[in-house]
Amino acid sequence: MKWAKKMERFDVIVIGGGPAGLMAAGRAAEAGRKVLLIEKNAGLGEKLLLAGKRRCNLTNALQDQDVFLSRYGARGGEFLRHVFSAFGPRETIAFFNRSGVRTVIERGSRVFPEKSETQDDELGGSQRVLECLLLYCKKGGVRFLRKTSVKALKLTGRGGPECRVDRIITNAEELSAERYIVATGGKSYPKTGSTGDGYRFACQAGHRIVKPTPALVPVRTKETWIKLANRFNLRNVKLSAAVNGELVDERFGEMEFTNFGLSGAIVMELSSFVTDWMERGETTFIIDMKPALSQEKLVARIERDFEKFSDREFGRALVDLAPSAVIPMILELSDVPPEKPVQYVSPEEKEDLAFLLKNITLTLNGLWSFDHAIVTKGGVELTEVDPKTMRSNLCENLYFAGEVLDINGPTGGFNLQNCWSTGAVSGSAV
Ligand SMILES: Cc1cc2nc3c(=O)[nH]c(=O)nc-3n(C[C@H](O)[C@H](O)[C@H](O)COP(=O)(O)OP(=O)(O)OC[C@H]3O[C@@H](n4cnc5c(N)ncnc54)[C@H](O)[C@@H]3O)c2cc1C
Repeated sequence: MKWAKKMERFDVIVIGGGPAGLMAAGRAAEAGRKVLLIEKNAGLGEKLLLAGKRRCNLTNALQDQDVFLSRYGARGGEFLRHVFSAFGPRETIAFFNRSGVRTVIERGSRVFPEKSETQDDELGGSQRVLECLLLYCKKGGVRFLRKTSVKALKLTGRGGPECRVDRIITNAEELSAERYIVATGGKSYPKTGSTGDGYRFACQAGHRIVKPTPALVPVRTKETWIKLANRFNLRNVKLSAAVNGELVDERFGEMEFTNFGLSGAIVMELSSFVTDWMERGETTFIIDMKPALSQEKLVARIERDFEKFSDREFGRALVDLAPSAVIPMILELSDVPPEKPVQYVSPEEKEDLAFLLKNITLTLNGLWSFDHAIVTKGGVELTEVDPKTMRSNLCENLYFAGEVLDINGPTGGFNLQNCWSTGAVSGSAV
C-alpha cells in the first residue's frame, strides 16, 4: 500500500494547510489539476481559526489601492501590486460572498464574515471561512494528507537553470508532483504548526531568507513600574516612538500596559519597526494620555479638578484625570507625595503633572517572542519570486504563497489578504 502511494503522482503538491495553502490548492484543483495538500497537524487552518479573535478579519475595504499597498511597506507593496491585479481584495470579497460567506465592513474598513443568523455561530466567522475553503478544495477533488510533516525537498540541478524539485520527503514517505507550492507560513504562534520549515525548503533551492523577526507583537520595556498600571487598557491615547530622542513615528488609538511592557493595537503596529529602531539606538515610546489637550489646557483642567477636590490629598484628587488602575503608576512617577493636600500643590507641580500625563516615557529592551507574535516579518526574498505567478526564479517547478514570503502588514485584514492573493495566483499558475 505504501509502495502504491509512493508511485502515485500528482500535478501539484501544496505544503501547508493554512489560508494560503487552502486557497492555492482549491484554485489549482478548480482548474483541473490533481492536487495533494500536505499538513503536519491533524486539523487544517489552525491559525486561521484564531484570526480576529475567531471572527476572522479576512481583508480590508480600503478603496485607494495605493494606500492599501503602502500598508505592506515599499517592497511588499510593489510586489503585491502585480499580485493584486490578478486577485486583490475585491476578488477576495467576491470569492467569499459567492461561496456563501456574507461580509460586513467595520471600524477601520475591516472586513469580517457577517454573523450567522441561521447557524450556531459560537465558533465564529473563522470557522465559516475555513469551512468555505475546505468545501472549495473538496469540490475540486483536492486530496488531503494530514498529520504528515514535509522534512525536505529532493532537488535536481540545484544552482543551475535546470533546478527542479524531484520529490519531497515526509516523515512517512516520499511523494512527487509536477509542481510544488510552499505555503508553510512564518514562525509566529508555532503551536499552530508554523515553525519556519518553509525557509529551510527555500534555502535548499538557493533562496535568500530575509531574517525572520516577530511582528505585531507586544514590546518589552526596561521600566518595571509598568506593573503598577495593572494590565490596564487605555483608549484614545497618542503613542510616539523616538530613536535617540528623535521622533520616528506615532499612532493614535488603543494600547495596554502589561507586566513586562506594552501591548494593544497601536503598540503591535509599531512593533514591526522596533528591531530596526533598536539597531539604530535607544528606542523610547512616549505615551500621551491626553492628546486632545495642549499642555496649557491640561494645566487649566488640573486646576479645575483640584478646586473640585480641594479637601482631598493629591493621591485622591486624580480620579477624574486618569483611570483608577493607572493612578498608582502616576503617583510613582510624580514627585508630589500622594498625601500632600491638593490646596498646597504648587503651580510648578501642576505643570509637571500635566507634562507627565502627556509624556510617560518607556525605554524598549526588545520584543516578545514568536510565541506571541501575530505575524512574522521577513521570509523568502521577494526579488527571487515572480509576482505574476509566485514561481521561484531559481527553481522552475517551485512556488511560494502566504506568510512564508517576506511580506507583512499591519492589523486590519492585510495579512490574510496577502495569503488569499498569493495563494490564488500560485494556484492559478500551477
Ligand atoms: C492570534 C492571531 C490572530 C490573527 N488574526 C488575523 C486577522 O484577523 N486578520 C489577518 O489578516 N491576519 C490575522 N492573523 C495573521 C494570519 O492568520 C496569518 O498571516 C496567516 O494565517 C498566514 O497564513 P499562511 O497560510 O501563510 O500560514 P499559516 O496559517 O501559518 O499556515 C501554515 C500551515 O503550514 C503547516 N506546515 C508548516 N510546516 C509544515 C511542514 N513541514 N509540513 C506540513 N505542513 C506544514 C502548518 O501546520 C500550518 O497549518 C492572525 C494571526 C494570529 C496568530
